[in-house]
Amino acid sequence: SAEVVLVGRSNVGKSTLMRELTGHTFDTGQRPGVTRQPNHYDWTSEDFVITDLPGFGFMSGVPDDVREEIKTDIVRYLEEHAEKILAAVLVVDGKSVIDIIDRHSGPDEIPHDVEMFHFLRELEIPVVVAVNKMDKVDDRDERLNELCDRLGLYPPWKQWQDTIAPITAKRGSIEPLTDAVRDHLHEQQRDDL
Ligand code: GDP
Repeated sequence: SAEVVLVGRSNVGKSTLMRELTGHTFDTGQRPGVTRQPNHYDWTSEDFVITDLPGFGFMSGVPDDVREEIKTDIVRYLEEHAEKILAAVLVVDGKSVIDIIDRHSGPDEIPHDVEMFHFLRELEIPVVVAVNKMDKVDDRDERLNELCDRLGLYPPWKQWQDTIAPITAKRGSIEPLTDAVRDHLHEQQRDDL
C-alpha cells in the first residue's frame, strides 16, 4: 500500500504525532538518536503505511559523525523509495521554527528544515509541513506567513493549506494535516487514472 513518511528534527513532537496517527504508543522524550531505523506502521483511519524516519538536526549527546550518518541514511531512504512515497510530512515546532531557521541561514548554511523541504520537492514527493505545538503560538497567522516566506512559498499561508498544516499533536488536533495528506492521496489517484 501507499507510503507516507514522517521527518523532522528531534523534539518537534514526531512521537506524539505518530501516536495520534497510528494509535501505537511511542516513547516520547526518548533519547534522541536511538531510533535509527525507518519504522513502518499502519495509519489507523487510512489505507496507507506511515514510516517514521529518525530525527535529524541537532541532538544533544549525539556526536557529529553519528548525526551526519543519520542524515545520510534518511536521504538514501527517501531517494530509494521516492517512487512509492505518496507524501512526506515534515514536522516542525511552530514556536521555534522561525528562530531556528533564521539562526542557521547564511551564505554557507541552509537550515535542515529548509533543506529537507526542497530536497523532498526535488524528489517530486508532495510535502506537508506539520507545524506542531500551535497551542504555544499567539500570533498564528503572522508566524505561518513567516514560515511560508522562509520556505519560498508566497504568503499568505492560507493559500497553501495543502502544504502548511498547523496542528497541536498533544491535544489530538491534527485535522489540517490529515486533510492535506488525503488531498495529495486523491490527487495522485486522479493522476493514475
Ligand atoms: P520527538 O522527539 O519529535 O519524537 O518529540 P516528542 O513527541 O517526544 O515530543 C517532544 C516534546 O514536545 C514532549 O515534551 C511533548 O509532550 C511535547 N509536545 C509534542 N506535541 C506538542 C504539542 O502539540 N504542543 C505542545 N505544547 N507540546 C507538544
